[in-house]
Amino acid sequence: MLSRRELENLVTDFPLLNKLIQLEELSWMNSHLTSMAQALPKVGLSEKDVADAKQRLTRFAPYLARVFPETFVSGGIIESEIVEVPAMKQGLEKKFGHQIQGELLVKLDSHLPISGSIKARGGIYEVLTHAEQLAFQAGLLSPDDDYACMVDSRFREFFSDYKIAVGSTGNLGLSIGIMSAKLGFKVSVHMSADAREWKKKKLRSHGVQVVEYDSDYGQAVAQGRRQADKDPRCFFIDDENSTTLFLGYSVAGERLKAQFEQQGRRVDQDHPVFVYLPCGVGGGPGGVAFGLKLAFGDHLHCIFAEPTHSPCMLLGVYSGLHDKISVQDIGIDNHTIADGLAVGRASGFVGRAMQGMLSGFYTLSDNTMLQLLNLLNQTEQIQLEPSALAGFKGPSLVSMSMGQELGYSEQALKNSTHVVWATGGSMVPKEDMSAYLDFDAQ
Ligand SMILES: *Cc1c(COP(=O)(O)O)cnc(C)c1O
Repeated sequence: MLSRRELENLVTDFPLLNKLIQLEELSWMNSHLTSMAQALPKVGLSEKDVADAKQRLTRFAPYLARVFPETFVSGGIIESEIVEVPAMKQGLEKKFGHQIQGELLVKLDSHLPISGSIKARGGIYEVLTHAEQLAFQAGLLSPDDDYACMVDSRFREFFSDYKIAVGSTGNLGLSIGIMSAKLGFKVSVHMSADAREWKKKKLRSHGVQVVEYDSDYGQAVAQGRRQADKDPRCFFIDDENSTTLFLGYSVAGERLKAQFEQQGRRVDQDHPVFVYLPCGVGGGPGGVAFGLKLAFGDHLHCIFAEPTHSPCMLLGVYSGLHDKISVQDIGIDNHTIADGLAVGRASGFVGRAMQGMLSGFYTLSDNTMLQLLNLLNQTEQIQLEPSALAGFKGPSLVSMSMGQELGYSEQALKNSTHVVWATGGSMVPKEDMSAYLDFDAQ
């Protein structure tokens, strides 16, 4: 917590913090936004890195198709559908009292195979990268092999000598735990207090060691890191700083581009696209945004959504303090029902690397997320976890003012496409989902 004096000075320089501290829902057009040409060199990663990640996932596809039958139909490629949700669009117009210009699509990462959330992109990718490296070094594997050979027990035996550890609010742990255990690694997941019981149970059923903490995500990560540091055979997956995770997410950009091309969708000055990404520590939405901006350029706009109680990325980018400040420092408690977004301190790497590519930020309350959860269920019969609803407030904000502030004409906005990134939910047990759905009735 900052001293009263420090806080007053900060609020004087950054007046929006008043509303943030009051936990009001708000939006902010990112003043650091620049063109792709200017922003790209600041990231320190390139198109080639994304292409490498894509190739690595292609190498592993035959293996994944063998060990995760649900990926068989896609040939071991982990990708989600994008669908139009016109009834939800109407529902949102009624709820927020404003017409939404353009089409509303939802990207169903909630239904990604293996772990049912956006973390099936980055988390699994980082485990595969690490496994590949170890197997290369040991002379067990070469890039030209058919990776389906990894189902062989000698690989499991080999990996069982190594450990993987990660700190998580839930979904990253699920992805990394399930993938690591499948390969044969000994894996421990350090879970923050926000993590849902069913996520821990599911992990234990896969033979993953779950270590529970009473504290928030930052503490769980710190503890996990400390334990891993003591053991040279233990690899710690660092959600706050990992460029590998980030690149795993970024492959989504090219994939969405292919889906858009299939649907005959144009993206240019007269047909802008707005993508709404729920943000926790920032790796998932940051990596996806990086991939999207590389694939589509300046007329695709990424907007990050955060809970009013955990607006860490907005706070970091807006104040320019990035990971030098936490929401707790300004008296915000980081308690939210959106467990995937319950992060008090943003990734400094993502904030600094991506601030030139992000068009805006907004916050929404737990109440709004739960209302949206119900609305989506009623209008489209799609069930998501609370975090994954954060993006649905965005289309109204863009239609009301953000679209014009980004320089688009009325006509262009009528031709626009809104993509809400639905980041998780297909694995939520029935009872937990009923509890979320009962909320409106109270
Ligand atoms: C992790 C997560 C996010 C946000 O990803 P970060 O990398 O933490 O920013 C969003 N939605 C869900 C459901 C998640 O699990």
